[in-house]
This record gives sequence, C-alpha cells and structure tokens, in this order.
Amino acid sequence: MNGLMEGKKGLIMGLANDKSLAWGIAKKLAEHGADLAFSYQGEVLKKRVEPLAAQVGSDFLVECDVSDMEAMDATFATIEERWGKLDFLVHAIGFSDKNELRGKYVDTSLDNFLMTMNISVYSLVAAAKRARPLMKDGGSIVTLTYYGAEKVVPHYNVMGVAKAALETSVQYLANDMGPEGIRVNAISAGPIKTLAASGIGDFRYILKWNELNSPLRRNVTIEDVGGAGLYFLSDLSSGVTGETHHVDAGYHVVGMKQEDAPDI
Ligand code: NAD
Repeated sequence: MNGLMEGKKGLIMGLANDKSLAWGIAKKLAEHGADLAFSYQGEVLKKRVEPLAAQVGSDFLVECDVSDMEAMDATFATIEERWGKLDFLVHAIGFSDKNELRGKYVDTSLDNFLMTMNISVYSLVAAAKRARPLMKDGGSIVTLTYYGAEKVVPHYNVMGVAKAALETSVQYLANDMGPEGIRVNAISAGPIKTLAASGIGDFRYILKWNELNSPLRRNVTIEDVGGAGLYFLSDLSSGVTGETHHVDAGYHVVGMKQEDAPDI
C-alpha cells in the first residue's frame, strides 16, 4: 500500500536531525508520495535540515522561530506563494529551560512558564490559524505530546503542564476547524532519545522504565511515530479529530510496575 499521500502538500515544523520525531513522520509521508516543506529554527539547524530534506526530495526550507509572529506570517505567506494551498501540517516543537526540567514543578519561574507555554503550545494555535486559509480542500494537523500531560512524570514538570494545554488546544482547534474539514489530532509518543529529550532530567531512567514496564516491553521508535503520523495525515483517519493517540508500546494502560521488571 503506497501513494496514500500522492498529491498532498504539507509543512513539517520541528525537524532538528535524523533522531527527531518529525523525521520519522517526514520519511513515512515521503514514502507515500507527499510533497514536503520544512521550517527550521535558525542557521545552525539549517545545515542539518537541508540534507535531510534533500533525502525526501524537498528543497523547500523556510526559517521560522515560532515565538516570532512575523516569522510565522512570512512562513505561511511563502507556502501560499509557492504552493497556493496546504493539505497538512506537522507541529513537532517543544521547548523549556532545561534547568526547570529537573527538580520540582513548584519551583517553575514565571518567565520559563510563559516561554514554555508560548513555544510549546501557543505555536500550535498560531500555526493552525495561519494554515487554515490555505487548507482550502480541508486538511489535517498533527502535534506531538507526552504522557506527562496526564500523570506526573518526575522532572517533566512545566512541560507536562504545557502538554496538557496542548492536548486541550487540540480539542478546541478540532472543534473550531471541523466545519471546514480540517482535522486536528495529537500523537502521544513514548520516550525517545532526541535533542529535546536530552534536556529532561534523568531521561535514561524514564527510557529504561518504559522499556521494562510497557505491555510490549520495548520503547517506541521514530518509525512507530511515523506510522501514526501517516494515519492521521492521510485519509485513513478521515473520521478522526480532536484525538490524542498513544504510540507508547501501551505504557499508558499500565497501573503499576510489571512483575517481571527488574529493579533499576
Ligand atoms: P527535537 O529536538 O528533535 O525537536 C524539537 C524541535 O523543536 C527542534 O527542531 C527545535 O528546533 C524546535 N524548536 C524549539 N524551539 C523552537 C522555536 N522557538 N522555534 C522553532 N522551532 C523550535 O526533539 P523531539 O523529541 O523530536 O521533539 C518533537 C516534539 O515531540 C516535541 O513537541 C516533544 O515534546 C515531543 N515529544 C517528544 C518525545 C520524546 O521522548 N522525544 C516524546 C513525546 C513527545
């Protein structure tokens, strides 16, 4: 089964390198015939993103710091100019001061709280608002979230609160844009070693814990996430919106340590 994305054009926001969740999704979409554009955060990342984009047949790169609303306007204006429409959007962006992704949530500073919410949550709203007029034949938007939105995961702190707001934003955006045939969903991925994840305190422990305690007794890969991305961004999920879908080897259904899990 190939070609599910034939004729569809989409923007991937949040590719940093070949470990990025966005890369798992981009590869799968390209395999199925999608035309891809990539936005990147700054010159340093451009050098990493350019060759990856080339690997999936794209030379369409736009610089966009999502906390800069003029850059957001310019990004979507560039897409309109080149493509005249947009079929899908991948939002794979999150950021917080790593000094506050350890210790206690109660110690979160106001500045970092606001910055984390701005970059990790508002950016989805801002991108959806700008994508909306370009999604003339309907469309699909996917963002990435984590279980730390639902339950306390040590060290995840303000990021967990941001992900809860992100998941609720998905529901409100889905309702706002549903009448226009635009679907909005979230993939709640299990822990994967990426640049962003390396900022989280004791991330190796979280990885090991999930591997030992998830029903599938393994961690997920960016390819697992890519498969769910393809489902949400293609017509396979045409009746689904406002959903947070777990791609976490089943970890979210487990209530306690597995009997066969060794101490770590
Ligand atoms: P990553 O470091 O590869 O990607 C994070 C991206 O966010 C980078 O491309 C970075 O440039 C971008 N970004 C940060 N601030 C930005 C800004 N101001 N403007 C534009 N871009 C900005 O890491 P990743 O793990 O692939 O993260 C992608 C998404 O997946 C994030 O939302 C993350 O929270 C989420 N997620 C990750 C995991 C995991 O374990 N890695 C699990 C669940 C959800």
